[in-house]
Amino acid sequence: MANPVSIEQLKKDFADFLKQKMYRNTQERFLVLEHIASLDRHFSADELYFHIHSTGARISRATIYSTLDLLTKCGILTKHRFQSESAHFELSARKPNHDHLICVECGHIIEFNVDTLHAIEQDVCNQFEFKPMKHSLQIFGVCKDINTCEYNK
Ligand SMILES: [Zn+2]
Ligand SMILES: [Zn+2]
Repeated sequence: MANPVSIEQLKKDFADFLKQKMYRNTQERFLVLEHIASLDRHFSADELYFHIHSTGARISRATIYSTLDLLTKCGILTKHRFQSESAHFELSARKPNHDHLICVECGHIIEFNVDTLHAIEQDVCNQFEFKPMKHSLQIFGVCKDINTCEYNK
């Protein structure tokens, strides 16, 4: 399926955010955003750095890290802490309302969306008179199929 996120809209949202917060509106930051949109998956800051450099673009690690930080603050990116060592990011609008299974051996990530979870969220919030905004569920385990587990290759 094609990426439903419009890069033009993301750029506009980011430009508005930078202007509002009075951050410098540099071309490099928008280049980083374009690369992220083309990835269409979860990534760590280092993976993004290597991806950008593999295309021949030269953007410093510091710029990439600070841009990730700004994009997260602005809500364009969602930051996940799947495992303690490094954060993973993904476009918030890419696939709303999904949760993750994470293989602790190979780092493989599976995305899923089940209605029962949303029902539980509603139930629990009703019970405690709480207004839900979002939830995040991460199930850690290992790949059952040895062929899809990178670690076992
Ligand atoms: Zn995801
Ligand atoms: Zn695995």
